[in-house]
Amino acid sequence: MRRFNAFNLARESLRGHKGWGQQWRHPEPKKEYDVIIVGAGGHGLGTAYYLAKEHGITNIAVLDKGWLGGGNTGRNTTIIRSNYLYDESAGLYNHSVKLWETLSQELNYNVMFSQRGVMMLAHSVHDVQSAQRHIHANRLNGVDNEWLTPQQAKEYCPPLDISKTARYPVMGAALQRRGGVARHDAVAWGFARKASDMGVDIIQNCEVTGINRAPSGEVTGLETTKGTIGAKKVGVVAAGHTSVLMEMAGVRMPLESYPLQALVSEPVKPVFPCVVMSNAVHAYISQSDKGELVIGAGTDSYLSYSQTGSMHILQHTLDAICELYPMFRRMRMLRTWGGIVDVTPDRSPILSKTPVKGLYVNCGWGTGGFKATPGSANVFAHTIAKDEPHKINAGFNLDRFRTGRLIDEAAAAAVAH
Ligand SMILES: Cc1cc2nc3c(=O)[nH]c(=O)nc-3n(C[C@H](O)[C@H](O)[C@H](O)COP(=O)(O)OP(=O)(O)OC[C@H]3O[C@@H](n4cnc5c(N)ncnc54)[C@H](O)[C@@H]3O)c2cc1C
Repeated sequence: MRRFNAFNLARESLRGHKGWGQQWRHPEPKKEYDVIIVGAGGHGLGTAYYLAKEHGITNIAVLDKGWLGGGNTGRNTTIIRSNYLYDESAGLYNHSVKLWETLSQELNYNVMFSQRGVMMLAHSVHDVQSAQRHIHANRLNGVDNEWLTPQQAKEYCPPLDISKTARYPVMGAALQRRGGVARHDAVAWGFARKASDMGVDIIQNCEVTGINRAPSGEVTGLETTKGTIGAKKVGVVAAGHTSVLMEMAGVRMPLESYPLQALVSEPVKPVFPCVVMSNAVHAYISQSDKGELVIGAGTDSYLSYSQTGSMHILQHTLDAICELYPMFRRMRMLRTWGGIVDVTPDRSPILSKTPVKGLYVNCGWGTGGFKATPGSANVFAHTIAKDEPHKINAGFNLDRFRTGRLIDEAAAAAVAH
């Protein structure tokens, strides 16, 4: 694989860029693998990469029913932050932010991680109290987060309307300066390229239709649209379709799947310097490097596997965006799409062994798993390789829904993007 560097770029520019080659191989599946990962999103591809890099396991396949990065990884609004309330969450998401900071160099692939700051608005006394509670908890956990007055929030984000007569009065904001955004596709492509180079087989258009188990119960392989493939260990990393897959092994998951939508505007010159979220009115916004405003909406209120969400959800979000940033009222929206997010009762993820020997699951990221991609993949690879959780994901086990030891970020924040 040719490295991306100044010398190779100059060389290729003189040769019409014909020498870069394919970014990853397109192999047919082997008869058997040591590990199969189901789902070629960022978390699945990242898991394969860290299994190869940190645990020396390279006889791995990553299977996807579609194209790699075509699930929620390629559909999200790319907000990255780690200012969650509870110790376990701070540990997991901050591990991820630290990995984001060097990911482009590590993968030799520009994931365009931009720490432009994530600001979360407070519109009521309750919001103010909740944001300040988060700030104190975050600081105790070594996570940066600070309080801004309305005037300071306006200085950080000039398009914001902080007038006293605004529909949604801004009473202050919490700012995590190390938060930001990254290029979602590049994350999937970067992990895929590096994993493939280390020997991982990435097999696209290969749907898993069954999970095979020995009479003694352990996993022996998978039924797929490309035939039976043997495996000593299987990691399911399938976001909104996790419960469908786990059902194939007889494991009932504490998950609900909802459509979640986003949209982008026509591209304009740089006008929006940071990421702003408003949990109370449920609208969040940033500007992509192409110039489009990237806007996220809320989940639909009904369960579904359809990637088309409801119109009224989008309309509510755009109403809120126009109230908060009046200068965007005449912008045209370019396109909208949806993804199926997997939501747990406590709104925290599951990175866990399962009651079936050799079967592991990474899911429950709901509306907010993109930010966790490298951290989640890193500790999930450890869990699969060692057959025991890493200390960072020990609390995020399946068992907590039986024991009641929940990590209740649902009560801590209304939204988890
Ligand atoms: C509109 C939207 C906005 C979001 N905004 C943010 C945000 O701003 N910040 C944030 O942190 N998170 C956000 N998220 C959440 C984030 O996108 C996800 O949590 C994260 O990308 C999940 O990654 P993944 O690799 O686990 O799943 P995915 O990328 O969805 O990958 C799962 C893969 O499994 C495959 N699969 C499913 N069933 C099968 C099968 N039977 N056989 C083979 N393959 C199968 C799918 O094809 C898919 O490619 C958002 C999500 C959406 C939809």
